[in-house]
Amino acid sequence: MLKSFKTELRLTESQTDKVRRSLGICRFLANQYIVRNIWLCRLYQRGVLDEKQPHFITANDFDKCVNHVLKKKFPWIDQCGSKARKKVLVNAEQAFRRFFKGQARFPRFKRKNQQNVKLYFPKNNKGDWTIWRHKIQIPTIGRVRLKEFGYLPQGVTIKIENINTSSRARRLEKRLRREQRRLSRKYEIRKKKGGSTATASANIEKKRLSVQKLHQRLTNLRRNYENQVIHALVEQKPRFITVEDLNVTGMMKNRHLSKSVAQQRFYSLREKLRRKAEIIGIEFRIADRFYPSSKTCHACGHVHGGLKLKDRIYVCPVCGYTEDRDLNAALNLRDTKNYRIA
Ligand SMILES: [Zn+2]
Repeated sequence: MLKSFKTELRLTESQTDKVRRSLGICRFLANQYIVRNIWLCRLYQRGVLDEKQPHFITANDFDKCVNHVLKKKFPWIDQCGSKARKKVLVNAEQAFRRFFKGQARFPRFKRKNQQNVKLYFPKNNKGDWTIWRHKIQIPTIGRVRLKEFGYLPQGVTIKIENINTSSRARRLEKRLRREQRRLSRKYEIRKKKGGSTATASANIEKKRLSVQKLHQRLTNLRRNYENQVIHALVEQKPRFITVEDLNVTGMMKNRHLSKSVAQQRFYSLREKLRRKAEIIGIEFRIADRFYPSSKTCHACGHVHGGLKLKDRIYVCPVCGYTEDRDLNAALNLRDTKNYRIA
């Protein structure tokens, strides 16, 4: 499940300064990372490094190097939050990995005049990302005034995939399959021996009960998950909720679920959410069935026909916009005008 909000902030002078500095530091680190990798690449090409020596430094290793070496030389690096620094390196590593796979061009340096560095603030302490009517608590920056009051969270978009991916559900399903096999084997044996399958032995009854109990536990687990999802959404008091129509491809990845079962579950969850939204008075939107939420670029609107299900990161072939696949889809759904109101 992904939710995203977009809002404009009104920063004080010192906050602006802090953000500028952090952006500068992140840009510096991303460029240092690229330099380091170019250097390693060249050494490798010249034959200075042999096959066994690493000719690519990972974001993790570089982060360690930043903490132990670079920070001594440039103590101002510490003025930027460590998580934001890490994130920019991880992004840079992604860019290199895409390059090695032949999916992208060689990573370019970040320039000051085309601000393409993003800052990332994960929730670090209790109270981070608390939202008031007119302000918001951002880690390392502090409380920031919002430009428009009382408007966050403005819209919520969910993308529900694979309810059964939780390890507990998977384990239970595995057990259930095993028990079901055992039960049917018992029936087979009884039939072979000439016994009636209408009546069952005490052992078969026991096995049947355990299968039923497993079914019940799985149902409870699912219901609990659904209620939690719905609660998390409704609690935000969004102005509207947009859901995708009939998109169960994500759920189809679980090959053990028959299509109809997965579809039915998706419907039941959506129906629950719709009823809840109706009670509270939240507009419930269903996006057009053919709206390509995953394939559309959120930045320029280009429809990327070649996007495959396995591509977890959306890279726009036209404008180069790069975002998590699901987040890109979620943003598109939030802003789409192709919807009907349920
Ligand atoms: Zn684009």
